[in-house]
Amino acid sequence: MSIPLMTGSGSSMQQYRCANRCTWCDGCGDYGIWTAMQRALVELKIAPWQALLCYDVGCHGNMSDKLLGYRFHGLHGRVLPFAAGAKLANPRVPVLAFGGDGASFSEGVGHLVHAVRSNYPITFILHNNGNYGLTTGQASALTWQDQPMNAAPNGIPERTIHSMDFLFSLEPTFVARTFSGDIPHMTKMFAAAIAHQQHGFAFVDVLQACPTYNHFATHEYLLERCYDCNAEGHDPSDAAKARQLATADTSKRIACGILYQRTDLPHFYDRLVPRKDKKTTPAEEVEIVDTGKWLKRFT
Ligand code: SF4
Ligand code: MG
Repeated sequence: MSIPLMTGSGSSMQQYRCANRCTWCDGCGDYGIWTAMQRALVELKIAPWQALLCYDVGCHGNMSDKLLGYRFHGLHGRVLPFAAGAKLANPRVPVLAFGGDGASFSEGVGHLVHAVRSNYPITFILHNNGNYGLTTGQASALTWQDQPMNAAPNGIPERTIHSMDFLFSLEPTFVARTFSGDIPHMTKMFAAAIAHQQHGFAFVDVLQACPTYNHFATHEYLLERCYDCNAEGHDPSDAAKARQLATADTSKRIACGILYQRTDLPHFYDRLVPRKDKKTTPAEEVEIVDTGKWLKRFT
């Protein structure tokens, strides 16, 4: 990247602490994700004033005022275009976007498609709890098809989207999967996904426990099946193996870790010809302009 990410001057968990109290249900996976994200930022020495955290609408979005730093809470399904635009304005800033499975694979699925194919240099964390938790447990596009849910007591008639197969068909440059009950592993995945911003779009699928409404992929279910594929020798540069692991039947084992990574493709902003060789950011180039003289043409 021609303009490097802002390097941290150091940070601590204390700096991210906020007086607002978390309001998620007991046992919600959001607590672990919230903790791991702060740990990852601290490990990378990124202080709250150095990063931008962008939240979609959903239970996870309530995180936006439960930690300090620059945060944005957007419209349902629209977090990715905002995050991409913010990154364009100031590529020095590490930009993280958070979205749920409902917003990301229904309302905002078009934005996800174009974020991956554009290879925007941002990090996306999918809070994948398999339902719309905030609105009391309706089925999302990732809910298992025959699973009874609120508003669908007989299960949904639509087929479930195979999210990983879909994602790999878009030729991503970074895909990781992790589990909300494993804070050390999430921390490692988040830190790697933030570092990947130098190369492009980083997608992290967090299999998240929602004890209130998800009674199929529970914390215990995920705990029994998730394993670290990198610890078992998986090489993330092996695209064929990565796709095979990501799309394998999850009823027995679920491969977690950095499933796939490539660093040889330029990202979106490095392909913008007008920005080539610029050492300043658009945010630094903004000038105060008197628009009055232009408006006079219309009076
Ligand atoms: Fe967490 Fe589910 Fe409760 Fe939402 S409804 S706060 S995702 S446990
Ligand atoms: Mg959800």
